[in-house]
Amino acid sequence: MDAKQILHEIAGQAAVCTRCELHFSRKKAVPGEGPATAEIMLIGEGPGFYENEQGRPFVGAAGKYLDELLEKGGLKRSDVFITNVVKCRPPSNRDPQPDELAACAGFLDRQIEAIDPRIIITLGRYSMAKFIPNVKISEVHGQPFWHRGRMIVPMFHPAAALHQPSLKTGVERDFARLGELIQQARQSVRAGAQKAEAVASEQEDGSETDQPTQLSLF
Ligand code: SF4
Repeated sequence: MDAKQILHEIAGQAAVCTRCELHFSRKKAVPGEGPATAEIMLIGEGPGFYENEQGRPFVGAAGKYLDELLEKGGLKRSDVFITNVVKCRPPSNRDPQPDELAACAGFLDRQIEAIDPRIIITLGRYSMAKFIPNVKISEVHGQPFWHRGRMIVPMFHPAAALHQPSLKTGVERDFARLGELIQQARQSVRAGAQKAEAVASEQEDGSETDQPTQLSLF
């Protein structure tokens, strides 16, 4: 199966999935959308009210703001694949629970494997923690990390900036730098990142680890 077919299969499976309690609050699963060969993947937290109605990610106010933020980074929504860590709406937009994140992780892992993006932009704490655990988003937002040969850029969730206007300037500055980061990811090539990871792994305990490697800022 090619990437498009795999994504289609995942969407079909998520639509009828009952692996966690979130299926009780699901009208439509929101598996994600975008090119199957996208260089950049955005991962948010979970579908909200409008996403649950339409089965599409980021279609409410946070989605409109995300489109503006992407533009600041020189990107269009049609350039990127957008999904969430859980594919069904948490009731009342509550945070996804650990068992729900674990139950849904297989879908996201398969999407990442199929799309094989060069850059993953995490939107919010839960998607960040999947790649960069034990850090505070307030301390690392907008900074690039390498994880398994991909650049990971943790960003605040657009909804957070809408709810806390004090975050807006920082969020917009982070997205405005995306163009530079994308160039850096293209140029610094995976080989270099993997070498850095290997060195970091050796320093850890001499064995392979999943620890992300922070890139120096420029
Ligand atoms: S959130 Fe994920 S694991 Fe839970 S029911 Fe929906 S698709 Fe299945």
